[in-house]
Amino acid sequence: MTISAHPPRARAGAPLTALEQGTPFTERHIGPRSDELARMLAVVGVDSLEDLADRAVPSAIRDEAASSALPAAAGETVALRELRDRASLNRVYTQMIGLGYHGTVTPPVIRRNVLESPAWYTAYTPYQPEISQGRLEALLNFQTMVSDLAGLPVANASMLDEATSAAEAMTLIRRAGRSRSSRFVVDADTLPQTLAVLRTRAEPLGIEIVEADLSSGALPDGDLFGLLLSYPGASGHVGDQESVIAEAHRRGAMTVVAADLLSLVLLRSPGSLGADAVVGTAQRFGFPPCLGGPHAGYLVVRKGLERQLPGRLVGVSVDSDGAPAYRLALQTREQHIRREKATSNICTAQVLPAVVSGMYAVYHGPEGLRRIAERAHRMAAVLAAGLRGGGRDLVHDAFFDTLCVRVPGRADQVIAAARDLGVNLRRVDADQVGVSCSETTTTAHLDAVWRAFGVDPDAISVAELDAATPDALPEGLRRTEDLLTHPVFHRHRSETALLRYLRSLSDKDVALDRSMIPLGSCTMKLNATAEMEPITWPEFAELHPFAPAEDAAGLLSIVGDLERWLAEITGYDAVSMQPNAGSQGEFAGLLAIRAYHLDRGEARRDVCLIPASAHGTNAASAVMAGMRVVVVACDDAGNVDLDSLRALVAEHRDDLAAIMITYPSTHGVYEDTVREVCALVHDAGGQVYVDGANLNALIGLARPGRFGADVSHLNLHKTFCIPHGGGGPGVGPVGVREHLARFLPGHPLAPSAGPAAAVVGPVSAAPWGSAAILPISWAYVRMMGAAGLRQATLTAVAAANYVARRLAEYYPVLYTGQGGFVAHECILDLRGLTKATGVTVDDVAKRLADYGLHAPTMSFPVPGTLMVEPTESENLAELDRFCDAMIAIRAEIDRVGSGEWPAEDNPLRNAPHTAECLTGEWPHPYDRETAVYPAGHASPKIWPPVRRIDGARGDRNLVCSCPPLEAYQG
Ligand SMILES: *Cc1c(COP(=O)(O)O)cnc(C)c1O
Repeated sequence: MTISAHPPRARAGAPLTALEQGTPFTERHIGPRSDELARMLAVVGVDSLEDLADRAVPSAIRDEAASSALPAAAGETVALRELRDRASLNRVYTQMIGLGYHGTVTPPVIRRNVLESPAWYTAYTPYQPEISQGRLEALLNFQTMVSDLAGLPVANASMLDEATSAAEAMTLIRRAGRSRSSRFVVDADTLPQTLAVLRTRAEPLGIEIVEADLSSGALPDGDLFGLLLSYPGASGHVGDQESVIAEAHRRGAMTVVAADLLSLVLLRSPGSLGADAVVGTAQRFGFPPCLGGPHAGYLVVRKGLERQLPGRLVGVSVDSDGAPAYRLALQTREQHIRREKATSNICTAQVLPAVVSGMYAVYHGPEGLRRIAERAHRMAAVLAAGLRGGGRDLVHDAFFDTLCVRVPGRADQVIAAARDLGVNLRRVDADQVGVSCSETTTTAHLDAVWRAFGVDPDAISVAELDAATPDALPEGLRRTEDLLTHPVFHRHRSETALLRYLRSLSDKDVALDRSMIPLGSCTMKLNATAEMEPITWPEFAELHPFAPAEDAAGLLSIVGDLERWLAEITGYDAVSMQPNAGSQGEFAGLLAIRAYHLDRGEARRDVCLIPASAHGTNAASAVMAGMRVVVVACDDAGNVDLDSLRALVAEHRDDLAAIMITYPSTHGVYEDTVREVCALVHDAGGQVYVDGANLNALIGLARPGRFGADVSHLNLHKTFCIPHGGGGPGVGPVGVREHLARFLPGHPLAPSAGPAAAVVGPVSAAPWGSAAILPISWAYVRMMGAAGLRQATLTAVAAANYVARRLAEYYPVLYTGQGGFVAHECILDLRGLTKATGVTVDDVAKRLADYGLHAPTMSFPVPGTLMVEPTESENLAELDRFCDAMIAIRAEIDRVGSGEWPAEDNPLRNAPHTAECLTGEWPHPYDRETAVYPAGHASPKIWPPVRRIDGARGDRNLVCSCPPLEAYQG
């Protein structure tokens, strides 16, 4: 008999393999601890999350197999290590391909303090301007920079990319102009992706794209309503376009110029040449190429077109004390998203990249930008001289930074030789190679390029060549106009000064790093640091979208994983990552439906049914896809009214293309009739589009692709943790069932990004859209696993029901579903209180700022209401802070209602209160303490920097670039 020296002791804890994973990420992502959750569930009146699922979610849609094929959750360290492994599969070459994507240096102070700073990236779109002055000022800098460079007065606060901006400009001049023509002429020397997106956007609208060689300066015969010129051209050529623009004007057409922003530092502005609108991208202003996205596109127009401008426009107004203040101009929400009268569907844009690019101009100022532009130009000039000296032949003599070199029959050989030396060049065709210089080009790169072209660099003295080589810009096109004269572009040149400027701006704003942001429909959840870290790794950021796909093997494997995981989560068969916002996903999904009907010989199907409660982008996307919008009524309970749906389906039996519903509905309710709705539409030959913006209420419980839908877009910047960035970037992937997979968007420069033999063209400039931010969503799914995602969904539903239960006695909850439960958000109805007391949703929203909180969504989808979406990431203390503030505000409303406080002078009407407003006389019937410390002194005070802003006044006197400093005096 042997006796063990150490008899085994009972183990108490977790197995080693679990310990090795560290703290499960779900515990970081999900706010409430288990005891807090228990307290929340008790208030909601359910026993457990499972009990909540059984009682709140209709059994007809439950799909418990959902997400079972996802990998098991990994801890943060493991997920980051895996991402490192993927990053190492990418190969970062020196990118000299050009085509709208260039090397640039993100100044480290901007990278760390904007791009990597939660104070900037976790902010929401500045719909509450009083607590968004920092990012509004940053966007105004961006607008001023674009407007100065382009030579036109009104720039918006960013577009999704250059190609979609060109498409928006095309439709803008079509509706603004008087021409009856449907022909839009496009310079053949235009970026190929821009041309392709223009074609995709033109076709459903009946616009004919006429591609024409304009190098001779003559327009093609025939009528036209507009013209798009490229300045410089895709080939690098810089030509004078003044006469062709004048000719277009004589023929009743307007002109859009697609311009390279950096070239405009040295070249005459398109505005001075007569352009009506200028479009492009600010990518090379400090934002890396990112495999094509995200970047800030821009759109700027001449005077007289500003009220036609799509997208968000920052303007200057004053607050109630007369101090200058910024806010979004010309829109209660988005002026252009007016349902069936919509002119554009752009909603989420590219705020964070626009802030980076604007700050790049602030930091460098005009002198610094000139140095950078001259570097790119001189590198190209010297490169050209060396090539000529070596007997190579250039296609153009006038260029900014891009050369086109003739190498008959040898293009592939030259490109391969350059790759051997670590440089990517552009294959124009078998006989021509393009080379682009940039801020990052060095003389060592010139050596490599010369060598690739068979020119011996050792025989060249760069210094001598430089001294002997004149500029290659046409004399008449040199810029003489002033540039960036506003003081903001001169004051923050030292790093200390810029650092403090950035901090002073972000300190004015309320982002997720200071408070919960309970915006219904927007899903402001945690954007975890581990998810965010990889996006600035050079292996992801420095990839060119039109380099050989093998260079991006690691990032594309992430794209592939995510496509599969999202298909699994949603129950669809195929997913495209190309759309770079939810709105673009909608458009892509509707184009797929349209192409499907056309393919079946049912071109007459063009009616899109949309419930009255839908998000504005739905109808706008349908209009852009060439559909007629027919509105379906909702019943008193807020659900799609089945009787009116039946009647409409019968009426449109022959021309029904689709229905577009949101699930759970924008009313925050799981409608139990959704299967019936889908069946009704299918029976009549229509397709079902489910807007997936509310997927945070479904993951792990139900899948749209399995309860009857044919297509959905998702918002990765809502459900899958990509931060809102103050209003973008976003990713709006579109998922479809098998029969629509052939009709997902393709891309002419990267066929592998779309279906084989793609029928539908690209909807974004970049083949994989905003590819560089996909590691964020990948990391989220990887770290949550199927069980974690499901737990997040149920916790989000529990939190919404908790808030609804706590507040119902103070503000009626407008709609509830089965068992009296809401889904992941709830609508608080203030209309009765407003009627009785005069206190509006605006007053409540602004008063919340005095409490240090961000307002919920205002007046969407129902005017006069607030929609609250707490998400799973807020802990009980924060949920209670919000509920307590709302309850305290209700007591304040009652004091107005009782007449104790006058309707015109009370803390609600006067909200928000600044520190300044305390210092003067105090004529109000409530004290200063009540004004600024309504919740007591417990939590640190967030001071709103301005009082209530006068929107109407700002719209009457539109100022959309940095105002002169006198505006701030007195
Ligand atoms: C956010 C949202 C959209 C639009 O998404 P963007 O990314 O802003 O274009 C569409 N539908 C619903 C219901 C939304 O909440």
